[in-house]
Amino acid sequence: MTDSNHFTVLPDHPWPQMQPGWVWLCGAGPGDPGLLTLHALNALRQADVIIYDALVAPEILDWAPQAEHIYAGKRGGKPSAKQRDISLQLVELAQQGRRVLRLKGGDPFMFGRGGEEAQTLVQHGISIHVIPGISAGIGGLAYAGIPATHRDINQAVTFVTGHDKDGETPASLNWTALAQGGQVLVIYMGMKHAERIANALIKAGRPSSEPVAVVSQATTPNQTVLETTLGKLAVDIAASGLAPPAIVCVGRSVLLRQVLDWQAMEQGEAPRSLDPLRRGKPAEEA
Ligand code: SAH
Repeated sequence: MTDSNHFTVLPDHPWPQMQPGWVWLCGAGPGDPGLLTLHALNALRQADVIIYDALVAPEILDWAPQAEHIYAGKRGGKPSAKQRDISLQLVELAQQGRRVLRLKGGDPFMFGRGGEEAQTLVQHGISIHVIPGISAGIGGLAYAGIPATHRDINQAVTFVTGHDKDGETPASLNWTALAQGGQVLVIYMGMKHAERIANALIKAGRPSSEPVAVVSQATTPNQTVLETTLGKLAVDIAASGLAPPAIVCVGRSVLLRQVLDWQAMEQGEAPRSLDPLRRGKPAEEA
């Protein structure tokens, strides 16, 4: 369905209306605009002003031609001095009575400082509304053919950030406990400290042969996937020239890419293995 402007019409549903003076915090998904939610599209249609991050695909902004677009990008690892300014800018725009859409990559509450922004807004008496998004740690892996969980591999998945507020490897994290307790680790912002993270995990007992995937620019046309091991992670990242944003996935789920790399299969490639876990029996047989 398209209207006269060739924009897709939302299906019939009592879509919420943006109110003047409110801020909607909305996830834009990991990259591919098709991963937006319908609530996000509804908000894009109504916003007066959109404050967006570096990781939001430009095409998504094209879907809100009526709105003013303000870039608030910061890249990981830099001191977050500007974060407070962004939050206060949201407060100011709301106080001007505008319909403010704060558009963030992935899910706004997943390692995206959305929680802090929302808190500042509420502290300033601004009404908020939240629209979750597909987080890179799930959707980005799925585009690489890596399921976040699989019954033969993991009954838990651990989301980790490779940066703390100062851009360092998070000191507050007990890497030994993570290594020993976390089955599959999905690491956001893990590129800068990949070597330190890998060493900490190996020191805590994870085998250096453990499979690791690095999924860079996931779900975009530039998606690149590096398959390696914990022991070779840092060297292989350096050799590959892969750059952030990237998700690092540590665990045997990475092996499933051999059978589930659906993007390669769409291009006509055969699966590399039909039984990468070497079960010797059909996938769903107990
Ligand atoms: N709120 C976001 C995460 C923000 S933190 C979310 O839910 O996805 C930024 C980190 O997210 C990046 O350093 C990277 O680790 C990850 N990331 C975001 N978009 C990505 C993408 N398209 N491909 C790979 N990693 C991505």
